[in-house]
Amino acid sequence: MNIPFVDLKAQYLTIKDELTRGIEQVIEETAFIGGKYVAEFEEAFARMLGVKHCVGVGNGTDAIYIALRMLGIGRGDEVITVANTWISTAETIAQCGAKPVFIDITADQYTIDPDKIEAKITKNTKAIIPVHLYGYPADMDPILALAKKYDLDIVEDCAQAHLAKYKGTNVGLLSDVATFSFYPGKNLGAYGDAGCIVTNDDILAEKCRMFANHGALKKHEHKIDGINSRLDALQAAILSAKLPHLENWTAKRREVAALYRKYLHDVDGIKLPPDIVNSVYHLFVIRSAKRDELQDFLKSKGIGTSIHYPTPLPLLPVYQHLGYVPSDIPVSAEYQSQILSLPMYAELSELQVRYVCDQIREFQ
Ligand SMILES: *Cc1c(COP(=O)(O)O)cnc(C)c1O
Repeated sequence: MNIPFVDLKAQYLTIKDELTRGIEQVIEETAFIGGKYVAEFEEAFARMLGVKHCVGVGNGTDAIYIALRMLGIGRGDEVITVANTWISTAETIAQCGAKPVFIDITADQYTIDPDKIEAKITKNTKAIIPVHLYGYPADMDPILALAKKYDLDIVEDCAQAHLAKYKGTNVGLLSDVATFSFYPGKNLGAYGDAGCIVTNDDILAEKCRMFANHGALKKHEHKIDGINSRLDALQAAILSAKLPHLENWTAKRREVAALYRKYLHDVDGIKLPPDIVNSVYHLFVIRSAKRDELQDFLKSKGIGTSIHYPTPLPLLPVYQHLGYVPSDIPVSAEYQSQILSLPMYAELSELQVRYVCDQIREFQ
């Protein structure tokens, strides 16, 4: 059996007609930048989340950068984030001229450890970026309490957590502003780069929209120096065609996760991810002390896996100048050689999941 780590073709085949119709409309009308297809998606996504504004931008990385810039983050500021995440979360802090400050993850949930944040807050700290990693909501209550106590902004990085909920509230609505990525492999993925910023704050939404569009809300009326980072209409049409399926795909991911648990719970040497309601399983990450051998073995059996992420961000060459050592982030440092992401997408069949689990059992 051949089971790739992700299979975007399998999803495409289930919605080919709707997608083709959406793409053709945009081309027929040559409505490539801005216009109704972008507005339609922004409105639909905002409605689904229950938020007032959705500002489509070029990608999920720009979404973070734009949000930070429009919150006024700049040179001399510090922004707290988590050691185990995709590079975007930290590089956007640096793009603003600010300094990323890294916090370890919790041992059981792989998201930012709220207990380790307060010690890192200084007079320069301006914001916290919690990441809802792997589809798990970060533990927001203590983070929100700290933000209140020290008057900090929060930008939720929801790139891996479309429709995940924390204590009944959709992620992205827990703080003043949040960002999403629609990178093709994300739970809601475009066919190219795309992202958005969501907020209930009218002024912040307008600022973000302006900054992302050359500093202008109307053509030729440039009010600030901006950038060019827009959600393009073809991607918006693709996202609009996919959006009505998102809840169903999310339910399917949960079913796949349940199957992994069922077939792996008694396999020695495998640590399963936490079973948290309302997580959306962007990734299904197990741990094994023999991770590299397991990954090679699964590859030899036709099973694709991946590692999210091989190196905690503060230990990457790019952040060496910040002087972190593994003992600063002990959990992230320990897990980096153990974590392994198994195939996870809505179209996986029980037979396929069973096969993956049988091979893992055979390896042990
Ligand atoms: C994918 C991702 C991003 C960035 O998204 P792009 O659309 O690829 O720029 C940001 N943060 C996290 C945690 C991600 O997984």
